[in-house]
Parts: sequence; structure tokens; C-alpha cells
Amino acid sequence: TCILGIETSCDETAAALVRRNGDGSGEILSDIVFSQLDEHAAYGGVVPEIAARAHVERLDGLIARALDEAGIGLGDIDAVAATSGPGLIGGLIVGLMTAKALAAARGKPLYAINHLEGHALTARLTDRLEFPYLLLLVSGGHTQMILVRGVGDYERWGTTIDDALGEAFDKTAKLLGLPYPGGPQVERSAAGGDADRFSLPTPLRGDKRLDFSFSGLKTAVRQAAQAAAPLSEQDIADICASFQKAITQTLQERVARSLDRFSETFGQTRDRPALVVAGGVAANRMIRESLSDLCGKRGFRFVAPPMRLCTDNAVMIAWAAAERMAHGMESDGLDVAPRARWPLDENAAARIGHGK
Ligand code: ATP
Ligand code: MG
Ligand code: FE
Repeated sequence: TCILGIETSCDETAAALVRRNGDGSGEILSDIVFSQLDEHAAYGGVVPEIAARAHVERLDGLIARALDEAGIGLGDIDAVAATSGPGLIGGLIVGLMTAKALAAARGKPLYAINHLEGHALTARLTDRLEFPYLLLLVSGGHTQMILVRGVGDYERWGTTIDDALGEAFDKTAKLLGLPYPGGPQVERSAAGGDADRFSLPTPLRGDKRLDFSFSGLKTAVRQAAQAAAPLSEQDIADICASFQKAITQTLQERVARSLDRFSETFGQTRDRPALVVAGGVAANRMIRESLSDLCGKRGFRFVAPPMRLCTDNAVMIAWAAAERMAHGMESDGLDVAPRARWPLDENAAARIGHGK
């Protein structure tokens, strides 16, 4: 099966063509991503109206290019897939409407895909991973630990109770006068800093839940910055290094609990269990290395798909649809609506009675 995927939930406009073979392997036929970073940089964050407009302007051209690079026509595809949530509603409408129009015009099935499901299933394309496995999603908008049991079968084990991790990096950068997006800037500056100069708290240390929290850390950074003001280049580097160290420690501690719970839940599985990381923050070297170490110590495989497929892209949306199709799940009607909020495990949440 060959699927056209469309992604417009945040600040990336993307289109891709993906094939899934009968043996469960996949092939990326084309993968086009237009990042709107420049459009938003001046505002220090993503501006929803600007994002929606940029999606409208770019999407048609990107789809044409994706088809062109794959060397196939619309008639050759088996389905059209678009992200229909969660995300910024303006962008979601643009992508989903475009997908509906193509599906209707060509008489192809439509798949309305949950963006988080795209992130969750990517490792099956890149690493042929078997279920179950754990996914740590750390991006600008999400910080979640998800148990991936099967296609369409997810359980959210932990989430942030305040800021997303990428957001914490971005806000820290802003506070220190570093440009947006802050993550790469903080990492660069931290490389020349003394991580032990400021002692910052480790949020939720010892807490039995599997959740995350970063806003207390942000406050501690603000106080440290105020106390050290006016900030020299070295002060900034020291704060960045201390912040990155605190983040790494809290992640280690939080993630370790999930690995333990996985082991308790599944006992000895036939394969070495896996932790997959995804999201833009997975680009951070210190975070990657510390999680990789942790996995090694606990007997887990550490899987980090190539960065291009960790951040927002349309390959993962097409692939999620291909997996749904292969597992006999139905396509969506042309009346399906985009949803700004859409928890990945909403059925599970409803079952245990605490849906968001
Ligand atoms: P979504 O949350 O919907 O997936 P997003 O666009 O916010 O979308 P990504 O594009 O996956 O998320 O990631 C962007 C985030 O990753 C930003 O917050 C950015 O600061 C952070 N980031 C990128 N590189 C690094 C890095 N090297 N270290 C830390 N954070 C990083
Ligand atoms: Mg992005
Ligand atoms: Fe994403």
C-alpha cells in the first residue's frame, strides 16, 4: 500500500509518500518538510494565525513535490492521511480539508490521524520494533511517556503537569536573551559552562507518579539569573549548563520509574524491551546519552530514530495510516472534524474515568 501523508498541526508544513510492504517493512518514497521557523522567530514562539496562513500558502506545492519526487500520480495511491489533532486548529483545518478534497476527488479512503500516534509508530518504520515498547515524546508541545501496546492501543503513563520540556528550554533561552528556538542555543551555550555553579532543583524527585514537571525549574533559573545579573557570556553559559544538568537528572529519575513499571508489567519479554525517544528535544546530546546509559543499565534497548523523523514530519502520518490499514482498522468519513485536543489514549482514559 502507498499512502500520501499530510502534517500541518504546528509550525511544520509537510507532505510525504510512504509504502508499507506485506512483511511489515516500510519505504519512504518522498519526505518534504517546510519549517516555518523564520516566520515565527521574530515573535519568540509559534503564532497560530501566521502558521495557518503559511500552511495554506505552501501545502499544495509541497504535495505536488512529494508526488513528483516519488514518481507517482494521485491515481496510484491507496489512501490519503492527514493529522487531525492535537494541534493548532487553523493548521489542522488546512491539512485535513486538503486531504478530504483529494480523497473525495479521487475516491480514496481518508485517514484522520492523531499526531501522537504518528510519533508513537515511527520506530516500527525505522527499526521494525515489535510491540510492546515505551515511547518518550519530548517536543515543544508535548512531554509524555506512552506505552505502545499495539496499533491503536496506547496508554499514557506520564505527562507534564505544567510546561513541555521543549517549552522549558525555549523559556529559559528567552530569559537569558538567547534567540528562538531555545533548545539548540541552550545546548550550545552549555557546552562552555560550569554545570555545578548553580544548584537547581530536581522536580518531582521521589514522587511515585510517572509525570514530569518543569516550571519550578524555570523559576529557579529566573532567580539564579536575577541574582547573577548583569549576566556575562560566562554567566549565561554556566546557567545553561546547570539547567541542562538539572533537566537530565529529572528525566533520568522520571524515566527510570517507567522502565521499572514496564519490567514489572511485562516480566521477561522474549526480546530486549525498548525505549524510543521522539520530539525535537531528542536532538539534545546530553539527554540522549544519559537516557541511553540508563537504558543500558536496566537492560533496555535505546531507540532514537533519525532526527528528521523525530521532529514533525508527514512520513509518520502516512505510516500510521498504513499501519492502521494493515491492521484492518477502518478509514474515516469525510465528515470527520479536526480536534485541537485529542489524547492518544482517550478510550483507556474514559475506561478508568479520568479523561482530559
Ligand atoms: P509538537 O510538540 O507538536 O511535536 P514542536 O514543533 O513544538 O511540535 P518539535 O519540532 O518536535 O516540536 O521540537 C521543537 C522543540 O525542540 C523546541 O522547543 C526546541 O527548543 C527543542 N529542541 C530542539 N533542539 C534541541 C536541543 N538540542 N536541545 C534541547 N531542546 C531542543
Ligand atoms: Mg516544530
Ligand atoms: Fe510533534
